[in-house]
Parts: sequence; structure tokens; C-alpha cells
Amino acid sequence: MRKRELGRGERVLPGVFRLRLPLPWPGVPHGNAWAVTSGDGIVLFDTGIHAPGSLVHLERALGMCGLALEDVRLIVCTHAHSDHYGQAAPIIERSGAELWMHPNFEHARRWAEDPGASLMRRLEIARQSGVPEEPLRRYAAEHSDHESGIAALVEPDRPLLPGVVVETDLGPWTVHETPGHAPSHVCLFQPDHRLLISGDHLLGRISLYFDYGYSPDPVGEFLGSLDVVEALDARLCLPGHGRTFTDVRAHIEGNRELVAERLAATLAVLRAASAETLTAFEILPRVYGGELSPPLAQWLLTETLAMLLHLEVTGQAVRIAGEPERWTAAG
Ligand SMILES: [Zn+2]
Ligand SMILES: [Zn+2]
Repeated sequence: MRKRELGRGERVLPGVFRLRLPLPWPGVPHGNAWAVTSGDGIVLFDTGIHAPGSLVHLERALGMCGLALEDVRLIVCTHAHSDHYGQAAPIIERSGAELWMHPNFEHARRWAEDPGASLMRRLEIARQSGVPEEPLRRYAAEHSDHESGIAALVEPDRPLLPGVVVETDLGPWTVHETPGHAPSHVCLFQPDHRLLISGDHLLGRISLYFDYGYSPDPVGEFLGSLDVVEALDARLCLPGHGRTFTDVRAHIEGNRELVAERLAATLAVLRAASAETLTAFEILPRVYGGELSPPLAQWLLTETLAMLLHLEVTGQAVRIAGEPERWTAAG
């Protein structure tokens, strides 16, 4: 955790506080947890990542809002990624709070219980995608510390599914399944104030990420989830990273356009190759161009695989089994 980054808290609405917590990731300097007052305590939406000193950042952010860790009565996670769920265990230990989360958190279970095996699986997916041995070795060496960002795997006290209501002083929040970014993703909506806690499904700065390998078609699921959230007609979005924003519909449309653009670009690369088949690793620079830093390339490889899978599921691309796997346009 970089020293200059500190947890910070600010009130965004009466009884609603943004807790901005530092992240040890390049390009993603912090994430949000949201505290909403409820009776004699608070509901904490998301937790921040677990890392050395990370709980102090959360306590500092809460303190700036006149709140304390012991005030947490309930933790509600938008999804089981480490930056939204990682500190659940130590918060529960200190506060005795319950945890509510969507049951499809297998992706986090594997990650938290055996980061080494998860790393091997990522490497295998990369190898299968045509990534050469040298960058794979470098990646394995850089990630060999096996830090999952999740303090301990905690089972939810209650499955966070449609029909569950989260009570706060501001009124009740309803649960909406929004898989795509992660299989465990939900958004929470407060209908009287038309507030949306969007997790990583909708961010102020449009940016795609799909958890690849845990569901049949993350891109298709994400597009369906955009429809779900659009129907809510939210006025103000409280996202998992960055500032609150009001033009929710424009952000939904922006995400749809970006997905359509990336799908079209991926398909165009396959078509331009005509009879030549391509690995995902070969497709990557043809879609995104230029020199890609290793972390960016890894992120975009996952995105490319998700795009190829969606093209396959919708009958536009064909996967050719082998070592590595190759792709071609359908028809
Ligand atoms: Zn996430
Ligand atoms: Zn996140």
C-alpha cells in the first residue's frame, strides 16, 4: 500500500458516506465502500481490500464521518472481488456484523482458499490462449507471493438475492442480480431516493472487466445486467470506484457502445485473417494496437477471451480446439 494514499471518508447525502480506500493496484488507486446509517449503527456496502494496514484506512475513513468499525451492523457486498469483500472477516471479528452476499462466489472461494492453484489456472488459460512461455514465467514470478487480498473466506449469513431487502434510515434497498463483471455481482437500489449502489457494474469512467471462466457468457450476462439496471431509472449512482454520478442512463449506453465496439473489432480481426486461424494472444494487439504493459495485456487478454466466447455463443466465431486454442470467423 503506497504511503501517500490514505483512507478518506465524506458525507454525500444525509446518512450516506463515501469511504474511499486505497488499493495496491496500478491504474486503480482506490475503491469505495459506502456506509449508510441504520438505527443505532450502519450498513456497510463493500469492505475494501485486505492488505497490511488496510483496516486502519477503513477506520480512518469511518472516523472522518464520525463513525467507527464497531458501528457496523451489516456488511453487504456487491460482489466477491477482493477490493469489495476482502476485509469482511476482520470487520466481522471487530463488529459482530452479519454478511450478506450473492451465493455465486465460487470465483472468490478458489482465489481465497488457494491463490497458488488460482495462479496456475490463470497461467494455464494464458498458455491455452497462445501466450509464450517467457512472459508466463515472468508473470508467475511476479505473482508468486500468493496475496489474495481476501483476509479469510467468510460464508454469507444470508444469500443476497432478489426479494431480500436491506433496511436503512434512508429507506429500504432492493437487490438486483447483475452478473457479468463477476458471477456474484448485485446492485442495490433505493427506490424513494432513486439511489443505485452499482459496485463495479457501472463506474463513472467506463471500463470493462469480465471474470472469465466461471459462467457460460460473461459479456452476454453483462449486457443483460445493463438492461436490468436501466429499468430501475436511478437518479444517482454510488459506484465501486470513483465519484458519484447522475447521468446513469448515459453511462449504461456508453457501456453498451463500448462492448459493441470491442465485439465488432474482434470479429473484424477474425474476418480479416480469413483462412488463417488466430490465438487470443495474436488477436489482442490487432484489436487494441500499440505496446501493452504486462498488467494491461493480462487485463485485455481476459477481455478478449470473454469477447471471443460471446462471439462463439452467438454463432459468429468458431473455436478450434488444440494447444493453443485457435479462433476463426463463422461461415
Ligand atoms: Zn470487481
Ligand atoms: Zn472493484
